[in-house]
Amino acid sequence: MNSTKISWTEKSWNPVINCTKISAGCKNCYAEKIAKRYPDTFGEFSKVTLKRERLNEPLKWKKPQLIFVVSMGDLFHKDVPTDYIKKVFNVMNQCQQHTFQVLTKRVERLEELSPEMNWTQNIWLGVSVEESRYTFRINHLRNTGANVKFLSLEPLLGNIPNLNLQGISWVIVGGESAVNYRPMRKEWAIDILQQCRKYNIPFFYKQDAGYKKADRNNLLYGRIYNEYPLLTNN
Ligand code: SF4
Repeated sequence: MNSTKISWTEKSWNPVINCTKISAGCKNCYAEKIAKRYPDTFGEFSKVTLKRERLNEPLKWKKPQLIFVVSMGDLFHKDVPTDYIKKVFNVMNQCQQHTFQVLTKRVERLEELSPEMNWTQNIWLGVSVEESRYTFRINHLRNTGANVKFLSLEPLLGNIPNLNLQGISWVIVGGESAVNYRPMRKEWAIDILQQCRKYNIPFFYKQDAGYKKADRNNLLYGRIYNEYPLLTNN
């Protein structure tokens, strides 16, 4: 249940499951696909559900790991009570052996609640930006108290020139993987790589867009970019 195929993390932790769509990047939501495949486990995808029994899981994981928080939904969804979000933060605050990756599209609520959260160093906070019309999310991210702020530009659906990368510690880029995937031009990814290079920001290239795994490589200029903040992989 906690294993993941997402290449930029090691483990997932889902004290919340399910979600509702909010923007273009949600069209082929992988969480929705998984939820539909296992209806007995997830129920109706649009019914955001708290999994209280999972809250303390990371406390039991002794080996330090990179943990994607709520990979099957969005922690800052309106249906997740603020008190519960605080409980999730409390566990992350206690688990200094782990690094937690929180990724959201609900940036207004994120910014509003940010002052109430304890942003320990082991919490990386990211926002998804799939097209240039969603770059406003980066401004909300910048206004939070997180020490490590990152961008997930996936599925990348268009060129995003002139990103404001001030205060950003990590950028992930990836194309869409689905039967009806939307194409991503390699130039768009390369342009973001160059923007990151200009400001010395670690860059992770997850994959090309495509349906079959064999059609999706993770190379730009013939090499792998799997850099992380605070770690140097090249
Ligand atoms: S916000 Fe994320 S989990 Fe929620 S519907 Fe969109 S892609 Fe899926």
